[in-house]
Amino acid sequence: MVAQYEAIKEEIEQAFHEVTASAEYILGDRVTRFETEFANFVEAAHGVGVGSGLDALRLALLALGVGPGDEVVVPANTYIATALAVSEVGADVVLVDCDPRTYNLDPDGIEPVLTERTKAILPVHFAGQAAHMRPILELAERHGLYVVEDAAQAHGARYEGRACGSLGDVGCFSFYPGKNLGAYGDAGLVTTRDATVAEQVRRMRNYGERRKYEHVVKGWNSRLDGLQAAFLSVKLRHLPAWNAARARHAETYATALDGTGDLVLQERPPYATHVFHLFIVETEHRDALRDHLASAGIQTGIHYPTPIHLQEAYADLELGAGSFPVSERLATRMLSLPMFPELTAGQLETIVHAIRGFFADRSSIAS
Ligand SMILES: *Cc1c(COP(=O)(O)O)cnc(C)c1O
Repeated sequence: MVAQYEAIKEEIEQAFHEVTASAEYILGDRVTRFETEFANFVEAAHGVGVGSGLDALRLALLALGVGPGDEVVVPANTYIATALAVSEVGADVVLVDCDPRTYNLDPDGIEPVLTERTKAILPVHFAGQAAHMRPILELAERHGLYVVEDAAQAHGARYEGRACGSLGDVGCFSFYPGKNLGAYGDAGLVTTRDATVAEQVRRMRNYGERRKYEHVVKGWNSRLDGLQAAFLSVKLRHLPAWNAARARHAETYATALDGTGDLVLQERPPYATHVFHLFIVETEHRDALRDHLASAGIQTGIHYPTPIHLQEAYADLELGAGSFPVSERLATRMLSLPMFPELTAGQLETIVHAIRGFFADRSSIAS
């Protein structure tokens, strides 16, 4: 992230000076401009900037009228924010296991859990690869359900050529600094083709205000600020090149690691254009590999070590170990390798070499 800042420092400083000169710190022209730019980027009619990715999800659900008594289908394998948004609007989280190859919500698992109370399906484009949206959208259509996309890891990702965030009723993005498009603080955005939903989110993010001091709903304070919007406009211009760099790094990893030890790579179905927020490998020896890489100075991540239903916060679901075997197994096997646009050929080589060395040592011990 430091290397990235150095590369765009002048543009960022100019944006900073423009906003401070205009004193439009909360909402304002720079926010409106970024909302339009980002909505265009993901081919959505409307974009509404909010305070975070969690708030994008929460305000989207509120705008669709999801609340107490309703159920929302959420993948068991996701960051906890996806589930928290549902809980925060007072609705019930209904978890579904994921596909063992793509790590995304398994469309076949949805129908069996639908009830009279189901109001929406909330697929996550996990790691930057689109969920299998066609069967999900068909199911939603057939049962009269909303589809809210958690696109927090999928800026620029595509499904059958269409941009993630424009496939469902609403798309929710996070600009947490570590995402493919990251602010210099917290920020998020809601995309939708529906002008009414966009207007609802716009009111809800700003104290329920329709016009100054005219409050039509009991809203929140979750606004995108002018500085973050200006920074995001600068960074959005670089995003296609950054995503392309990530894809090149992913090719390097995939080619170099193919057939190494027991490594399994995330399957990439032809319908999805992956933006590699994460590059995930699976191995039986995850923790040992992670330690080995750490001792070589290579930082890796685990996304995520504990599925939603096994988190203390969701003890009320009363779903113990064994409830979602695929997600639980992945939680013990998945490792996220270093992945950011500025990775150099030398760094990639070092990482690949260290991984190959790890498995070579193991097989010589075993034999
Ligand atoms: C990051 C993330 C969020 C939450 O975004 P914040 O901006 O941190 O609130 C939600 N869902 C997923 C899948 C994420 O990765």
